[in-house]
Amino acid sequence: MQLEPFIFRQEGRLIGIRAFDDNDTDPVLGSVNRYALRPLVRDEFVVFTLDLCHNQIDRHFSRFPDDELETINTLAPGRPLMERHDLRGSLPRGTFFRSQLHRDGERVSVRPDVYVLRTKDNEDFILNIEGGVYRETSIGFSFQTPECSVCNRDLRTCDHVPGRSYGDAQCHYVMRDVLEVIEGSVVPSGSQGTGFVAQARALPVGQALDTARQRFHQPIELWSRRTWAAE
Ligand SMILES: [Zn+2]
Repeated sequence: MQLEPFIFRQEGRLIGIRAFDDNDTDPVLGSVNRYALRPLVRDEFVVFTLDLCHNQIDRHFSRFPDDELETINTLAPGRPLMERHDLRGSLPRGTFFRSQLHRDGERVSVRPDVYVLRTKDNEDFILNIEGGVYRETSIGFSFQTPECSVCNRDLRTCDHVPGRSYGDAQCHYVMRDVLEVIEGSVVPSGSQGTGFVAQARALPVGQALDTARQRFHQPIELWSRRTWAAE
């Protein structure tokens, strides 16, 4: 039985403003301009770097294998960065334009760069990031298989609980077969981000598992199909 893709949101982190050289051979400018319809000059945008996801078990008990991080790394460029508003939903503010794998000992993470145009409309958004008010991000992913680290089955079909210990091992999600990086959002620090438009498709990982398990364990309804033979 093929289950639907598993979709969830995960927090990332804004890690800084990327400085770059002010010259014509700057690779940042070339990379950004692959996405622009007219060539931009460097004063027209600001570049931020995000730490999107990594290969360690996080506080939601999920983990990305290294080869899935490589897939995410290739899927991130071109995706939008949104700003989340309480009442107005999400507004696109920037575009992921390149991404690299960052290695720090055992820890491997996906670090995309995003460019945000210095338009009048984006002024406050940029100030909020520069000033540290917006430093967390929330990224939507979809996967084919959230694998159980205890029994290696799809977590939606087994009864193990992420975070609970079974013998010596603590159960966690292993995210396999990544399909899509949906979008990234910038959120104020500590925001849970529930109730927003963009949230409808992608829930936090624990909620997403509960919903998927309920759907999987629902009784199958059978009915006889007679409509085509009635006349
Ligand atoms: Zn299991």
